[in-house]
Amino acid sequence: MKKLEQLYEGKAKKVFATDDPNVVLVDYKDDATAFNGLKRGSIAGKGVINNRVTNFLMQMLEKNGIPTHFIEEISDRETLVKKVSIVPLEVIVRNIAAGSLSKRLGLPEGTPLKRTVIEYCYKNDDLGDPMVNEYHIAAMEWVSKPELDKIAAYALKINDLLRKYFKGLSIDLVDFKLEFGITADGELVLADEISPDTCRFWDSKTHEKLDKDRFRRDLGGVEEAYQEIIHRLMGE
Ligand code: UDP
Repeated sequence: MKKLEQLYEGKAKKVFATDDPNVVLVDYKDDATAFNGLKRGSIAGKGVINNRVTNFLMQMLEKNGIPTHFIEEISDRETLVKKVSIVPLEVIVRNIAAGSLSKRLGLPEGTPLKRTVIEYCYKNDDLGDPMVNEYHIAAMEWVSKPELDKIAAYALKINDLLRKYFKGLSIDLVDFKLEFGITADGELVLADEISPDTCRFWDSKTHEKLDKDRFRRDLGGVEEAYQEIIHRLMGE
């Protein structure tokens, strides 16, 4: 497969065309941003870790019945994925209160939630990714109701699979963000990434943060936290 022209450059990844119109190449960068681009920096080796962690988890999810965009990892930072039209929603799944939920509801970080919470945010940087509900999504026709129901069912199943998997590695999955896309054939698939950039991971025993909050909150040990995640997942 040939790497052709760059189609898009995001905050953490570049996307290139290939000689197959239904396949694109994702190239993971070390750049890091937070607070809607207000804080910028770089995390050495992050691109390699996020590429490999995402692909490892996507393959685990595929084996367990979740359709994903993953095709093939072709280098440390590069992966071939199905070209999709992205549903313009960030699907957030929460097991334990943290971040914006803690602020919004006045819940101390670390409060376990009695039920899993799903939230939707409209993907729009200019608007700061506002939270929306099912009525907004229907009114704006960002995705059909049957597709949204499928997204919610996949999100809950992904949460069960990931939560169990990480528990086995002595990591609590606090919350995470998913994105979905629709392929040329009309199939709804999990897209984007699943990595320490998009999940909150806390060590089950020490409650140490092993994710991007170390960067967001200037906690230090950022690179080490990303390395710890790939080490526990893949033994490297
Ligand atoms: N998240 C993300 N991208 C975003 C916003 C949130 O990947 O643009 C992830 C974040 O890493 C966390 C979860 O979604 O695991 C919930 O984030 P929250 O709403 O608490 O926002 P934050 O406090 O991270 O801004």
